[in-house]
Amino acid sequence: MVSVNRHFLTLQGGYLFSEIARRVAAFRAAHPEKRIISLGIGDVTRPLAPAVMAALRKAVEEMGDAASFHGYGPEQGYQFLREAIAAHDYAPRGVDISPDEIFISDGAKSDLGNFQELFARESVVAVTDPVYPVYVDSNIMAGRAGEFDGARWSRILYLPCTRENGFVPAIPDTRPDVIYICSPNNPTGTALTRTALQQWVDYARGEGCVILYDSAYEAFITDSDIPHSIYELEGAREVAVEFRSFSKTAGFTGLRCAYTVVPRALTVADGRGGHVALRDLWNRRQATKYNGCPYIVQRAAEAVYSPEGRSQVMEDIRAYHANARRIAEALQQTGLTVFGGVNAPYIWVATPHGMSSWEFFDRLLTGAALVCTPGSGFGKSGEGYVRLTAFGTPEDTEEALRRLSAITL
Ligand code: PLP
Repeated sequence: MVSVNRHFLTLQGGYLFSEIARRVAAFRAAHPEKRIISLGIGDVTRPLAPAVMAALRKAVEEMGDAASFHGYGPEQGYQFLREAIAAHDYAPRGVDISPDEIFISDGAKSDLGNFQELFARESVVAVTDPVYPVYVDSNIMAGRAGEFDGARWSRILYLPCTRENGFVPAIPDTRPDVIYICSPNNPTGTALTRTALQQWVDYARGEGCVILYDSAYEAFITDSDIPHSIYELEGAREVAVEFRSFSKTAGFTGLRCAYTVVPRALTVADGRGGHVALRDLWNRRQATKYNGCPYIVQRAAEAVYSPEGRSQVMEDIRAYHANARRIAEALQQTGLTVFGGVNAPYIWVATPHGMSSWEFFDRLLTGAALVCTPGSGFGKSGEGYVRLTAFGTPEDTEEALRRLSAITL
């Protein structure tokens, strides 16, 4: 008999979103007349920008003509998009990233999930708590997480991010090999300043760690002391991989395009007394297991960098920011303590009166027909918070806030 990779059986089964769905379905069945509004939505609602649509249509036409048809593309992505990224996302910030250090993919989720393959099985992984679950689950699948005690995994190093430490993870006492940092953060909506991030880069350089830097929400940064790329910081090229995505930047959640930067200067021990460049290993991994993001999608992503594309996409980000501001203001007026929402589309709300995340979830659902995401679903340190998102329509957001202000919390 074939045996499975037993680590898959230890995964904690998607409890968070299935439990939300269960409670929402029960409420809907009991109150069919009520219109439920979700402030928990993690997907964009605004359609693709006109410049992106024009590029997509043109590329689709090319595919139907033998003279301009594209078959298998380069696994690393087309040069036109790698060059556009280097020229627009890095060069203007004084960061010298060359196109051959940029790898185009179908999503930051895939890249973040896959990248751990390059590290030894015994590597110790550190994650912030609360955390985007992909970092943990992909390491569980790889057999790197140890035993689960009902809340945490024995071989994963958790870095609590709480209001007490300003949601800045403290440098740990024991050394991890790989450190996942997400800034701007999902779920807390907070972001690391240059100074805070530099400490992590310095630590990684001193201790020989690798930072996997998830910057999927970079487009939402507004404060000037928040770096847009980890490579703005001294020494980061030697220790960090950066993951970015067109999903939230340009509404590509359904189209699928992202990229990962692996600088040539980033090397790790080869286990034989020498060093090996992670860039070359990732190149090999992608060439072996991945056939590249579709040509038409890469043309659409390229259009995000055209003058019209940039201004249209900025307009979308502005609209989501306006929602975030409205939500944060309205919640503060009701006496709630909120974090985030300034450099990210997420608002992290402290539950009132010592309520648990799920108790507050139930209060909003039964009292106002509103859905949020319980913070405890993102990790132990998320208990006592809920996550709201700014991705709804302005109309639904306003209606949700009206309902919120009408209930006693
Ligand atoms: N990283 C974080 C922190 C996210 O929240 C998400 C999506 O929700 C992703 C990565 C995945 O992005 P993509 O759509 O490019 O796979």
